[in-house]
Amino acid sequence: MEKTIHIAVIPGAWYSHLVSILEFSKLLVQLHPDFHVTCFIPTLGSPSSASKSFLQTLPSNIGYTFLPPVNPNDLPQGTSVECQIHLATTLTLPYLHQALNSLTLRTPPVALVVDSLSAEALDLAKEFNMLSYVYFPPAATTLSFYFYLLKLDKETSCEYRDLPEPIQAPGCVPIRGRDLVAQAQDRSSQSYKFLLQRIKRFCSVDGILINSFLEIEKGPIEALTEEGSGNPAVYPIGPIIQTRTESGNNGMECLTWLHKQQPCSVLYVSFGSGGALSQEQIDELAIGLELSNHKFLWVVRAPSSSASGAYLSAENDVDLLQFLPPGFLERTKEQGMVIPSWAPQIETLSHRSVGGFLSHCGWNSILESVMHGVPLITWPLFGEQRMNAVVLSEGLKVGLRPRVNDNGIVEREEISKLIKGLMEGEECENLRNNMKELKEASTNALKEDGSSRKTISQLALKWRNLVHEN
Ligand code: UDP
Repeated sequence: MEKTIHIAVIPGAWYSHLVSILEFSKLLVQLHPDFHVTCFIPTLGSPSSASKSFLQTLPSNIGYTFLPPVNPNDLPQGTSVECQIHLATTLTLPYLHQALNSLTLRTPPVALVVDSLSAEALDLAKEFNMLSYVYFPPAATTLSFYFYLLKLDKETSCEYRDLPEPIQAPGCVPIRGRDLVAQAQDRSSQSYKFLLQRIKRFCSVDGILINSFLEIEKGPIEALTEEGSGNPAVYPIGPIIQTRTESGNNGMECLTWLHKQQPCSVLYVSFGSGGALSQEQIDELAIGLELSNHKFLWVVRAPSSSASGAYLSAENDVDLLQFLPPGFLERTKEQGMVIPSWAPQIETLSHRSVGGFLSHCGWNSILESVMHGVPLITWPLFGEQRMNAVVLSEGLKVGLRPRVNDNGIVEREEISKLIKGLMEGEECENLRNNMKELKEASTNALKEDGSSRKTISQLALKWRNLVHEN
C-alpha cells in the first residue's frame, strides 16, 4: 500500500492568510492524493464566521485544530493589529509544541509549512525533525523587498520615507520609501523590529512558497530564484485563490442585483476582510461614486481611524448604512447597491456585469481580480498594499492609483475621474487588454504543464522521496 505523506501547516491569525495556506493545501492533496495535511490554527479572539464556514469546505485529508485563542483585550492597550497577529502565534507556541509532539508520535510530518505571519513557529521544525517552509501569501515583490530591507537597514540611517530616490530591490519596480510596507514606516516601532526578526527567520528555512507566478512577477521571481542570490529556495506556486467565497448575509441579494445589470458596467468597491476608512473618506467616496454616474456595488464598513480597524470588529451589530451621507441611498437607488460588511467576492468578480474593482490591494483580492480579468482602482490602506498598488499601476499597468491630498484624503472629483477612466474610453480599453493577457497567463500557470503546477509537483516529489527513503 502507498505510504501517506504527512505535512503540518500553521496559518497566520488573519482571515486571508488562513484561507490562502489552506487553499494551497487543498490543491496539494487534490493533485497528490497520497498527502495528508494537519493544520494548527492560531486565533485572535473568536474565529470569524467567514473563517468557520471556509473550514467546513475542507476535504477529509486536511484535518484542523484551533489553538487556544489569544484574547485581544488581554494584550496591552494600543497594541497594533500587526503586533496582535504576531502575539497570537508567539503566545500559543507551548500549545503548538504539545500538539506537534502528539502528532509526531502518531504520524510524523515530513515538513512544517508556516504562514509568514507565524514565522516564530518555524523553530519547532528542527526539534521535530521536519523540513521547514514559509508560506508567503503576498507578492514576490514584497519578498524581494523584505530581503533587501535587511541590507537597507544596515546602510541607511534615516526613515525610508525620507530617502530622496525610489528604492530598487532586485528585479522589482522602483518603490518610493513612503510606499514601502507599513511596518517599515517607523523604524523605531515594535512592528518594524518584529518585521526584521521575521525576515531573518525566513533566511534559514528549507524553502519559501510564494503565491505568485512567473508571468505576473517575472523580475522579482527571477531575482529571488537566481543562483547565488543567497536566498533560500523560492517556489512560486500561485495564483492560489478561493473557488467560491462565503456569501455573508446579503450575498444572494447582491448577485440578484448584478444579474440585472449590463455586461462590464458595474464597479465593485471593497477593502478586503478588514479594511476601513475614516468618516470623511467614506463621505468623499460616496459622493465620488455618485458623481461618476457609473453603476457600483459597495461593501461598506463602519468608519475607523485605523485602516485595518474593521478586522477585529467586523461582526458587530451596528447599522452601517447610517455612516453614509444624508440622502445618498435615495439619490443612488437606481445607480448602485450598498451592502454592509461582506460580499461574496469571487462570485462578484466572476460576474459578467462587473467591469472594475476599486480595491485596497490585498494580494488575494488582486489575484482574484486578475484571474477574472477585472482591472482595478488601486486604493491601498495598510500592510504591503502600497507596494502592490505600485506593481499594478506602474508595473503591470492594470490599475489606476488615486492621488491623495495633503490630509491623506482621496477627494470626490479624483474618485469620479478615476472611475470614468477605469470604466469608459481609451484608458479603460488599454487596462482591459492588459488585464486580459494577465488573466490568460494566470490560468496557464495552473494548467497541467503550467509553471506553478510543475513547482507544486516538484515539491511533492521532494517530500515523497524523503519519506520513502526513510
Ligand atoms: N473577501 C470576501 N468578501 C468581502 C471582503 C473580502 O470574500 O466582502 C475575501 C476576498 O475574496 C479575499 C479576502 O477576503 O479572498 C481578502 O484578502 P486580501 O488579501 O485581499 O485582503 P486582506 O483581507 O488580507 O486585507
